[in-house]
Amino acid sequence: MSCPLCDDTGWKPVEQDGVRRVVRCDCWREQIGRHRLADATIPKRYQHCTLENFTVYNESLEQAVVKARRVAESFPVNARGLLFEGQPGVGKTHLAVAVLNQVIQTSGARGLFYDTRDLLRVIRSTYDPSIRTTEVEILQPVMTADLLVLDDLGAEKTSEWVEETMNLIVNTRYNERRLTMFTSNYQDIPDDTEPNSLLFRIGHRMRSRLHEMCEFVQMDGADYREMPTNGGVDDLVTLWKMRKKSALPAPRAGGRQARAQLRDGKADLKWPGGRAGS
Ligand SMILES: [Zn+2]
Repeated sequence: MSCPLCDDTGWKPVEQDGVRRVVRCDCWREQIGRHRLADATIPKRYQHCTLENFTVYNESLEQAVVKARRVAESFPVNARGLLFEGQPGVGKTHLAVAVLNQVIQTSGARGLFYDTRDLLRVIRSTYDPSIRTTEVEILQPVMTADLLVLDDLGAEKTSEWVEETMNLIVNTRYNERRLTMFTSNYQDIPDDTEPNSLLFRIGHRMRSRLHEMCEFVQMDGADYREMPTNGGVDDLVTLWKMRKKSALPAPRAGGRQARAQLRDGKADLKWPGGRAGS
């Protein structure tokens, strides 16, 4: 099927101030966007996520969408990325993916999605202790993607190795002014003895870096996974109110899983340590 604008050349003629020239055609941009979207490794269950189909029913969610939209629309001229924090199921990943989707489709940028634990697992599995490096094919795209989403930050408790690897990735992106978005179930409270604080999970160095490169956005709401089939906004509001009522005085961000991991404590990784990357 031929493109009416460019006859499938990928270049379309435009006239500006009486001068005719050619520019990249819309069809070319769309095609690049489709390829880049496929390369972004967004999990199937999030691929449909856009800013438009995000359900808003309270002020924190409304603020979060406004900020997400601002980042998506100002790309690539972004001063800072975003870190969405809040309890499981409030839509943090939805918004991060929505920005990723929009940026890729409108600009053809190279975007990448990674669950933080999956990323560390992949890096660890390709780590070669004899030469103390990780496969560059894994780290390269993570460090050089125009936009990176790191989902569920803090899910893996910091060990020396995790901290070093994450710092390498995040610092490289920060120094090269590449946009990074994060989501986390952990609260950003300045208490490194509280097991459910982000600080406890990722350490001081990483947290202060994140504050430099990201705006922290708190999201409050229901767990959408508890919504009945064919449920609607009213159900979400009800669930949200129940959640607020049942909230314990102490934060429970990580839930049972986090506490179980924590019990294993420092030995959780059984990893000899060492520097990832070259
Ligand atoms: Zn065309």
